[in-house]
Amino acid sequence: MSPASPDTPTRHDQHGRYPRAETVEEFAHNLAVVHKRIADACRRAGRDPAQVRLLPVSKTIDEARIRLAYQAGCRLLGENKVQEAHHKWEAMQDLGDLQWSVIGHLQTNKAKLVARFASEFQALDSLRLAETLDRRLQHEGRSLDVFVQVNSSGEDSKFGLPPSDVAAFLRALPQFTALRVRGLMTLALFSADAERVRACFVRMRELRDRLRQDAPANVGLDELSMGMSGDFEIAIEEGASVVRVGQAIFGARAVPDSHYWPG
Ligand SMILES: *Cc1c(COP(=O)(O)O)cnc(C)c1O
Repeated sequence: MSPASPDTPTRHDQHGRYPRAETVEEFAHNLAVVHKRIADACRRAGRDPAQVRLLPVSKTIDEARIRLAYQAGCRLLGENKVQEAHHKWEAMQDLGDLQWSVIGHLQTNKAKLVARFASEFQALDSLRLAETLDRRLQHEGRSLDVFVQVNSSGEDSKFGLPPSDVAAFLRALPQFTALRVRGLMTLALFSADAERVRACFVRMRELRDRLRQDAPANVGLDELSMGMSGDFEIAIEEGASVVRVGQAIFGARAVPDSHYWPG
């Protein structure tokens, strides 16, 4: 634990109990609660809340409720599954400034979809995928912000590169000129044991700081995307610049997490 960090617990005990937002006012309320939690964590860690971006995660949420979240101010939404994201993007073309971040594992044969509509992709984990995405983006005349996903927990069930493979991976990325590398992304251990969760985030920050020393010039490592509804305060205390939050904004999700993180 770093010196600035108190004994912040996880909120995994609240899993399944986050209040469901059904109106613009309820979305505004849930967003305000999350922003307050972000501000409190920043204060504990001596950080500026402006350095932490909230990425609302709208997986499983239908179009009608996403439109309410939009009215409450959401302009960039995270989705785990690319087909679901693409579907929503198509359905909400009238919301011209609504953007989509794909945050889940991507099969190479679906890179074409991401290249078409996403503004950010947070789960880059293979050179084959980087190459395919780059080719598809060149074809579309687009570029894409990407995060390299790292497996910080060592669990087989988690996607992402082992930390020891990331340096070599980053060195290979500059050839893919349509990819703008922004930083690293991870899912921590899913546990109520706050110190084991914190250890994942600390590992990420230390990895990033080490990688920075000799990363290729055009590979950005400013961003650390880590922390979700149950653990984002701890992630912020350890340096997160993006927190991906679904249930604390939209309400408890019925779909089990094993659907997204098989294992
Ligand atoms: C669903 C999801 C989140 C958000 O989880 P919540 O418990 O809803 O906050 C964060 N990251 C990824 C990759 C996800 O799939």
